[in-house]
Amino acid sequence: MARKTRSNDWGFPRWRGYGSAREATTVRLCDRHGCEEPGDCPAPKSPNNPDRWYFCQRHAAEYNSKWDYFEGLDKAEKAKRAKAEQSENAGYAEAQHYGWSGSGDGSRSADEMRALDILDLEADADFDAVKKAWRVKAKAVHPDVKPGDKDAAEAFQKYQLAYEVLKSAEERREWKG
Ligand SMILES: [Zn+2]
Repeated sequence: MARKTRSNDWGFPRWRGYGSAREATTVRLCDRHGCEEPGDCPAPKSPNNPDRWYFCQRHAAEYNSKWDYFEGLDKAEKAKRAKAEQSENAGYAEAQHYGWSGSGDGSRSADEMRALDILDLEADADFDAVKKAWRVKAKAVHPDVKPGDKDAAEAFQKYQLAYEVLKSAEERREWKG
């Protein structure tokens, strides 16, 4: 009994005659393993890659639904993206811990507004102003300056968190351009 070697087809264009032998129209087949439908839906193998799969409509839809957005991105961009997400998530986790939630309806989220408030800044403060205010405030309650002071330690942590929230928001905006 002949062994099935269908999987060897995968990744290579398959063709077959369509219609009567006399007309001999050649039709490219769907690249999906085992599919005998005509592959007339080109799909990029990865971003910025000219190579294409050719799928039937059904398998093109299936492929698109599983599209890995990260596939084909270069390593640096991938790391940058992961880092941005991580700092965002860290910001949210921290914020949740402190009972910060919801988002404002302006360009700033509720977390950012609260963070600005903690640093005694106005809503339109830029990130340089954030850095300055944070340095001054954090320095005043730094554990090195006030060792063993529980209130100072709490205040220091609060300023740190406010700064982290505003920093990751700033990075997010930069990344989005
Ligand atoms: Zn197919």
